[in-house]
Amino acid sequence: MRERIGKLLADGLKTQTEPFPETAREFSRLLDELYRLPPDDLRGKLVLSGFTDTPYGPERMRCQECMYYLVHRKWCDLPELAVPVEADWWCRLWRI
Ligand code: SF4
Repeated sequence: MRERIGKLLADGLKTQTEPFPETAREFSRLLDELYRLPPDDLRGKLVLSGFTDTPYGPERMRCQECMYYLVHRKWCDLPELAVPVEADWWCRLWRI
């Protein structure tokens, strides 16, 4: 699945990187929207969570430093996402 995600992103899938959820309430609203997607809607998950296949913004945020990133499995442990990810990817659910 990681390769499939990588290909969708490399092919230019437009995802919603903004607005970044600044407050707990905004974060929780985004999680609710993700939760309401059909479980097999991979493209929808990527778009809504704002995936990028490169580090993001001036601070170069990426999965590697996110609290949900499982280093050894290269996996996003956020239940509403639960997808394999690369260390240099990012999404707007990023948290430290
Ligand atoms: S929440 Fe986003 S930034 Fe964090 S590990 Fe998952 S995909 Fe990467």
